[in-house]
Amino acid sequence: MTDRDFDLFAIGAGSGGVRAARFSAQRGARVAVAEERYLGGTCVNVGCVPKKLFMYASHFRADLHEASAGYGWTIGETNFDWPTLRDNKTREIERLNGIYEGLLRDAGVQHFDGRATIVDAHSVEVAGQRYTAENILVATGGWPTVPEIPGVEWAVTSNELFSLDELPRKAIVVGGGYIAVEFACIFDGLGVDVTQLYRGPLFLRGFDGDVRRHLAEQVRLRGIDLRLETNVTAIEKKGGGIVATLTDGSALEADLILFATGRHPNVSDLGLEEAGVEMARDGSIRVDAYSRTNVPSIWAIGDVTNRINLTPVAIHEGVCLSETLFNDNPRSPDHENVPAAVFSQPPVGTVGLTEEEARERYSSIDVYRSVFRALKQTLTGGEERTLMKLIVDRETDRVIGLHMVGPEAGEIIQGFAVAIKAGATKADFDATIGVHPTSAEEFVTMRTPIES
Ligand code: NDP
Repeated sequence: MTDRDFDLFAIGAGSGGVRAARFSAQRGARVAVAEERYLGGTCVNVGCVPKKLFMYASHFRADLHEASAGYGWTIGETNFDWPTLRDNKTREIERLNGIYEGLLRDAGVQHFDGRATIVDAHSVEVAGQRYTAENILVATGGWPTVPEIPGVEWAVTSNELFSLDELPRKAIVVGGGYIAVEFACIFDGLGVDVTQLYRGPLFLRGFDGDVRRHLAEQVRLRGIDLRLETNVTAIEKKGGGIVATLTDGSALEADLILFATGRHPNVSDLGLEEAGVEMARDGSIRVDAYSRTNVPSIWAIGDVTNRINLTPVAIHEGVCLSETLFNDNPRSPDHENVPAAVFSQPPVGTVGLTEEEARERYSSIDVYRSVFRALKQTLTGGEERTLMKLIVDRETDRVIGLHMVGPEAGEIIQGFAVAIKAGATKADFDATIGVHPTSAEEFVTMRTPIES
């Protein structure tokens, strides 16, 4: 312990900052956290949590109208009320904000409601007041990036999406990453007429090729007008809506245009440069394997370091940091085999290598793939197909990639991720009895590799 005000001063109370602050305080450190916006950060306020609530809301339409008839249900008139969903969501988020506040308080973390800036390697300033700290943690997350095109001020980003006054009748979604794909599906499920524009040949760049192709087919089946190799060059305001000019010169009208064109590290005006903190070329804070910057007393975790931008990863990085600093146990975060889900409809679950990555890294692999109609669909007449895929290193028999597009993919992948993390082989998968009848059993019953 030193004569400085705090042992750790965290800037940003998102998933990573809160976890690092709490765990450090529970280990006896004197900890403060400053947050200028909302407790819980992007995930709780304008990301994962409200997104998932909206995703649940958007499932009802198909379940009520398309799926139920084959199961004998006749559904009367239905109505969707956007303000009810939006306001119920807001109440739930406010409840979570309160829980975060309580967690910090109970752990003995001092919470500053305001913007903190770094003054030097050991001091920060909040609301005109200066505090000294043995260690400073930057956990300020990311912020939506929008391209500089004429009229972009008429577009919304994921920051505004969760509190729209009205649900659009027609929406354009620009981008082909997690947010664009998820929101195209959410809007579509809520009855909005959706056009999704992606500038490249196929969306979800970086995901397995079969997953990308399969999901593109599935979202088109649902009625999303997915246009590839297409971008927006300008936006004009027209009445209550907008008109977007597309790269092929055509015009597209809508009530709302969402830009889900990536996020950048939230580093501006934090005092990082003045403190001598080195940045990486992509604008993120450069850190070593222990999340330490080039200034020994300044650390950074989560999206601001642009390693793997997922909430559970930021939380893990926060836990590792508290171990390193206050438990005499230097621990570097493990970024291998991180499972992930895209909450599209149907959702995607993935862990390990894509087939494309595996072919580059391994001399010989086997690929197992199955596309089928899930049992539920047999009585609904639904066209939806599930995709499951395993990638195996022939030399060691280890399963090095596992991918799924289909109902509950996120839930299913979480379990299989344990097996992949533990180094399970294809023989282990084969020795596992399936749970019948489920879709997930397909992962333990695929026996014949496809031709490479
Ligand atoms: P992503 O980086 O995933 O995707 C950005 C998309 O925008 C890409 O398709 C990209 O195309 C496209 N794009 C970038 N610049 C332009 C441009 N100038 N014009 C047109 N298109 C452009 O970002 P997201 O915003 O979707 O999500 C941010 C992060 O949040 C993700 O990295 C993810 O880690 C996290 N997230 C995770 C979720 C989950 O776990 N389910 C849900 C939501 C977000 P291209 O591929 O050609 O570069």
